[in-house]
Formats: sequence, C-alpha cells, structure tokens
Amino acid sequence: MDGFRADLHCHSTCSDGTDSPLELLSLAKHIGLNGLAITDHDTLQAYANIFPISKEMGIDLISGVEFSATLDSVSVHLLGYGFSPTHPTITHFCSRHHIQREERNKKIIEKLSKMGMPITLDDILQANQNKLETIGRPHIALTLLKKGYVSSFNDAFKLYLAEGKPAFVQESDISVEETLEILHDVKGFAIIAHPHLIKNNKTLNKLLEMNFDGLEGYYGNFNKHDNERWVKKALKKNWIVTGGSDYHGHIKPHISLGSSWTGEEIFTLFKNRFTQNHEL
Ligand code: AMP
Ligand code: ZN
Ligand code: FE
Ligand code: FE
Repeated sequence: MDGFRADLHCHSTCSDGTDSPLELLSLAKHIGLNGLAITDHDTLQAYANIFPISKEMGIDLISGVEFSATLDSVSVHLLGYGFSPTHPTITHFCSRHHIQREERNKKIIEKLSKMGMPITLDDILQANQNKLETIGRPHIALTLLKKGYVSSFNDAFKLYLAEGKPAFVQESDISVEETLEILHDVKGFAIIAHPHLIKNNKTLNKLLEMNFDGLEGYYGNFNKHDNERWVKKALKKNWIVTGGSDYHGHIKPHISLGSSWTGEEIFTLFKNRFTQNHEL
C-alpha cells in the first residue's frame, strides 16, 4: 500500500460499533493502516488499557471521540482529537452524556411502547450481545429488527428513529458551543464531523463561522467530487481537513475501515499534540 494512511473515524463496541477496540487495532494492522483514532459516541472507554497494546502492534493510536451536540435544536456530531483521554474535564463531560443517554433511551422505549412495539432495556442488551457501555439508536434499531417490528435495520431509522420520525428523541441538550469549549479547554482539536450530513443550511453556515479547527472532508466511500466541496471550504478558512471511514463493523457492512483516511501531515500534528497532552 502506498503512502501513510490513518483512519480517524471509527466506532467500537464501547458505543455502536461491533468490533472491540482490540479487534479494531488488529483490523487496522491487517489492512496496513499506519494510524488510528477510535471515535466512539460520547465515551472514551475504548482507550482504557489500549495504548501499550497498540504500541506492541505498531499501530499509531491517538485519542479521539465523536460528541453529539445541538445547535438551535439541530443535532450535529463533533470530532475531537489529541486530548488526554484521562483528563478529568473530558471524562466528566462523557459522564454527563452517559446520564443524558440513559434518560433518552427511556423516552425512546416509552414512545415505541405507545406505538405498539414494546421493548425493554434487557431486550436491547440481549439483541446486541455485548456489555453496551453506551446505548444508541443503532442498538435499538437492531432490537426492533430482532423482535420483528421492522423488516430491516435501515427501516427502523426510516420509520421510527431518525430525526423527525415518531420515536426520535434528541440525544442531549449539550450545545455545540459548550462542546467546542471543552475540546479546546483540554487542548484538543475540534473538527466538524461529516458536514455533508448536515442538511440544515443555516446550521451548517453557523458551524462554519465558529472556532473549529477543521472539518471532516474525506468520509466513508466518498468519491473525489464529494471531497472537493469540503476541501475548498476548509482551504478558504485555513482549516484542517481530516478523513475517516465511520466504520461501525457488521451493522454497517457497506463501510470498511480505511475507506477514507487522513494523511501524514495532519496525523503528525494531532499525534504531537496528543504526546504533549498525554503521558503514555
Ligand atoms: P445516536 O448516537 O444514538 O443518536 O445514534 C447515532 C448513530 O446512529 C449514527 O452514528 C449512525 O451510526 C446511526 N444512524 C443515524 N441515522 C441513521 C440512519 N438514518 N440510518 C442508519 N443508521 C443511522
Ligand atoms: Zn454510530
Ligand atoms: Fe456521526
Ligand atoms: Fe461516527
């Protein structure tokens, strides 16, 4: 494989991915990636005890996270990199998210029950066969599928769980502004995740005026044309452009690890910051 490639967007079993953090490292090694960040939703659990192993395996692992946040009641995802995953400010922030998710899951379960699709927390745990550090909508979608309430994982979102659908509940009321401030307080980089998924133009334009360090311009199976739009926007602002697959394992089989990536220059910038912030 030619050139340096670091996938800076993937999910483990600590959120809604189906590969454990160790399996992600092995897969990264197997496909010849040089660097990796595990960007679970609202949790840093994947980083517990993993750095010595990544070192042994020769995979350059840096800290990462994908936070859910709201801007004028619209949900957006923000990526953070390079902070210390044990910094109390950020671990406390993750705990707040955890509590909000518990409340949200209860509300989603209530809504589904009222619509004639009763599920329990136990059903969700059983349907997902892991300890589920962070429960999200994909786990609920899989439960609805296994219970026979929907005929596909995607239908669960299309009919009930996606934003604007009857069982949708906002993940939290934690704002973009606060999330950005926290990421900068812990000396991390703050990046707008998959900006092409933000359909509300007003929200997107507002985000582009904020104090982010960059945006995710290379994503999943994007083609050259898809990238160009975002690379241009970032260049204009002198922002960083990152790339990542948003790999989730077998619940999203069409996305493979390493399908989009970040090159050596930006990775080294993040890696240097990470080394300054976190003693390994
Ligand atoms: P949550 O963090 O619980 O809001 O769930 C967000 C995750 O759900 C995203 O990262 C995707 O993995 C998945 N997701 C969101 N919308 C859809 C959709 N329309 N179809 C399939 N998966 C989706
Ligand atoms: Zn996800
Ligand atoms: Fe996302
Ligand atoms: Fe993601």
